[in-house]
Amino acid sequence: MTLKLSLTAALGLATALTALPATADVNIYSYRQQELIQPLLDAFTEETGIATNVAFLDKGMVERLQAEGDRSPADVVLTVDISRLAELVDAGVTQPVDSEVLSAQIPSEFRDPGNEWFGLTTRARIVYASKERVAEGEVTTYEDLVDPKWKGRICIRSGTNAYNVALTAAVLHHHGEEGATAWLEGVKANLARKPQGNDRGQVKAIWAGECDISLGNTYYMGAMLADEEQKEWADSVRIEFPTFEDGGTHMNVSGMAMTKAAPNRDEALAFMEFLASDTAQAIYAEAVNEFPVKEDVPNSALVESWGSFTPDDVNLMDIAGLRPDALKLIQIVDFDG
Ligand code: FE
Repeated sequence: MTLKLSLTAALGLATALTALPATADVNIYSYRQQELIQPLLDAFTEETGIATNVAFLDKGMVERLQAEGDRSPADVVLTVDISRLAELVDAGVTQPVDSEVLSAQIPSEFRDPGNEWFGLTTRARIVYASKERVAEGEVTTYEDLVDPKWKGRICIRSGTNAYNVALTAAVLHHHGEEGATAWLEGVKANLARKPQGNDRGQVKAIWAGECDISLGNTYYMGAMLADEEQKEWADSVRIEFPTFEDGGTHMNVSGMAMTKAAPNRDEALAFMEFLASDTAQAIYAEAVNEFPVKEDVPNSALVESWGSFTPDDVNLMDIAGLRPDALKLIQIVDFDG
């Protein structure tokens, strides 16, 4: 459904006159793909009777919210990546949400201390390795990726993509500027082709024999397996959980925030509390194959089948803080060039 202007004013008047409960929709700007979040939208509407209108964006969310200002129809934003959550807050387009439900459901390390953003799921950035051409356990660390034995064998999406900027920020955290520069140059030297496409496109390239390993987020394995055409790509690879030599596997979050201008604040709060509920957290686990932030909600059987791993323990806000420096290094080494 595309975004339509809400009739908040009219509904507000009707409510005042008739004392009927408000029945406004909740308007969402989403960087998350429709196929990933539709099950959650459906479950929310079924449970609450509140309809959702979603504008699916692939760029420019902050600029759009700033341009719309007080007249923005958006109530809630759904996004991925700690840096994008931090960027929304820095741009002043969110508002704090004080909710006992959100505080109880979401562990403190996955929400903003000022309650401006809330994490919903975590995901690991892992190696997809060809079952045919890469032996089990052959890739164990991110540092391994610069080994000359991978020359011409790695595929990756653009270095400036948010997922890769966050990973580079983690490399910066662990190895400093010189180490991170050497890592970027080393990975670039091993690429089979210029960075392009999305995470799934790299797995397709492995399937097609163009490369042997790629970097991607975990849940795309689930999404590919559920797709008739992409299932073959997924079946050609295995998930390996690399770690940093002095740490664990790089993690990121998906999350949400209420917009500063939210015209339908009550409905927005209901939606946010729903996404943090055990019901929605289980949908994220089962339908999207992400790791729920709610600790006692189990992973899907598919996710469990990938095996256990040690998440890196770097603080997410440290990653967000290192993002500008990471992006600069990616540009200096001309990673995509
Ligand atoms: Fe994604």
